[in-house]
Amino acid sequence: MAMPITVSSSETKDLLRMERVGTHSHIRGLGLDDKYEPRASSQGMVGQLKARKAAGITLAMIKAGKTPGRAILIAGPPSTGKTAIAMAMAQELGTDVPFTSLAASEIFSLEMSKTEALTQAFRRSIGVRIKEESELIEGEVVEIQIDRSLTGGSKTGKLTLKTTDMETIYDLGTKMIESLDKEKVMAGDVITIDKASGRITKLGRSFTRARDYDAMGSDTKFVQCPEGELQKRKEVVHTVSLHEIDVINSRTQGFLALFSGDTGEIKQEVRDQINSKVAEWREEGKADIVPGVLFIDEVHMLDIECFSFLNRALEDDMAPIVIMASNRGVTNIRGTKYKAPHGIPADLRDRLTTISTSAYEEKDIRQILNIRCVEEDVEMSDDAKDVLTRIGVETSLRYSIHLITAANLVSRKRKATIVDVQDIKRVYSLFLDEKRSVQYMKDYEDQYMYNDQSEKVVEGT
Ligand code: ATP
Repeated sequence: MAMPITVSSSETKDLLRMERVGTHSHIRGLGLDDKYEPRASSQGMVGQLKARKAAGITLAMIKAGKTPGRAILIAGPPSTGKTAIAMAMAQELGTDVPFTSLAASEIFSLEMSKTEALTQAFRRSIGVRIKEESELIEGEVVEIQIDRSLTGGSKTGKLTLKTTDMETIYDLGTKMIESLDKEKVMAGDVITIDKASGRITKLGRSFTRARDYDAMGSDTKFVQCPEGELQKRKEVVHTVSLHEIDVINSRTQGFLALFSGDTGEIKQEVRDQINSKVAEWREEGKADIVPGVLFIDEVHMLDIECFSFLNRALEDDMAPIVIMASNRGVTNIRGTKYKAPHGIPADLRDRLTTISTSAYEEKDIRQILNIRCVEEDVEMSDDAKDVLTRIGVETSLRYSIHLITAANLVSRKRKATIVDVQDIKRVYSLFLDEKRSVQYMKDYEDQYMYNDQSEKVVEGT
C-alpha cells in the first residue's frame, strides 16, 4: 500500500510559492534573431522552429500595425506549445500593444450574451494611443532643438523656464540659439515660436537676406534652419483600450467597474458614440489606433453563433489580430450537426492562416524540462532527467513538467537536496497520466456509479 505523504506547513508555503511560478513563466519571447530565424533554444523557447518563425513574421506584421483583422490558427496536438507561442508573442509585443487572452469556454456565462462577451474581448484588444501635450510649467527644463537638416547635424540646448509667458520664452530662445552657435546663427536671426504650441517654425535669415548675401559674394555662410522645436520635457502618451473607454463612458457601469471587472453589458449607442469620437481624434492627429491581439484558446469550444460573429467582426477596420488555438482534429461544430476540422466552419477557416505545431523530439523535451527545473528552482540528477524525459516522450510534455515540483517535494521528504530517479518513480506511481487513467477507468468501470458501458472512450483527446 502506498504510504500517505504528510506535508508540513513550511512545505505547504513552499508549494504555494512554487505554484506562483506559472505554467508559461519560463517563456520570455519567441527566441528569434533579427532576421526572424529561431534560435534552437532561447528566451525559454525550445524547438518548434517553423511555428516560431511563422509567429515571428506575424508579430512583425502586428508591430507594423498594417494588418488589422487577420486571423491566425495555431493547430497541433495537445501540449505542443500552442499557448506557449501565443504567450511569447504577447511578451514580444510589449506593454503598449494590448493582448487579451481567453479560453473559448469563458464566453458562455449567464451574465452576458456570447456576442457581448466577444465584443468586449475584441474591444479590450484594440488600443487607442492618445497624445497629450504637456503644459509649459514655470521652473521646468525645456529643450530647444534646432534641426539643421540642410547643413547636417542638429543642436540642442536646455532652457529653464522662469516664466510661462511666451514672449519672454521667445526672447530667451533667441538668445540661446545665438549662444549655441555664434558663428552660424548671428544676432538678428529670427526664430518663431508658435505661441500656442511652443513650436519653432522657422529659424534663420529670410530668403531675401540670404539672396542678398549671395549677391554680395559674402563668405559668410548662410545657414537655413527650416524647423526646430521647443520641446516639452516629454510628450505624454496614454494607451487605453476601447473597452476601457466604453466602461468609463457607460452611465450604468461607471469607471469603478474597471476595478471590479463586473462590467455587464454595454449599450451599442455608447459604443457608437465612442467610435465616432475616436475617429474624430484620429483625424485631428490626437490619437492613433493600435490593433492588438486577441488570443482565443480551445477555439473548437465556440459555437456557430460565435463563429458568425467572428466573421463579421474581423471585417471592421479597427479589428485586432485574432489568434486561435485548437488541439482538435475533425470534430463537431458546436450548435450544428456538422463536423469540420477543429470544429471551425468552412467560411471562417477560409480566412485563417494556419501555423501548425508538431510533437516534440526527445532532445527538445529534455531541454524544456531542464528549463522548467531552473524555473521551479529544482535540482535534479542527470539520471532523473533521463527518466523524466522518457516519461515525457511516452506520455506528454505537460505531464512530465507537472512531475517536477511533486518529485521535488518527495525528495525533500527524504531529506535529499537533489531529485533522483527514485523520486520520479514515486510520483509517477502516485499520479496517473492520461493513458493510465483511461486504463484505470476501464479496469475498474464496474465500481463507478452510472458508468455508461456503451460509450467508447477516445484516447488522446
Ligand atoms: P493544449 O493543446 O493541451 O492546450 P498547448 O499546445 O497549448 O496544449 P502548452 O500549454 O503551450 O501546450 O505547452 C505545455 C507546457 O510546455 C507549457 O508549460 C509550455 O510553457 C511548455 N512548452 C511547450 N512548448 C514549449 C517550447 N517550445 N519551449 C518551451 N516550453 C514549451
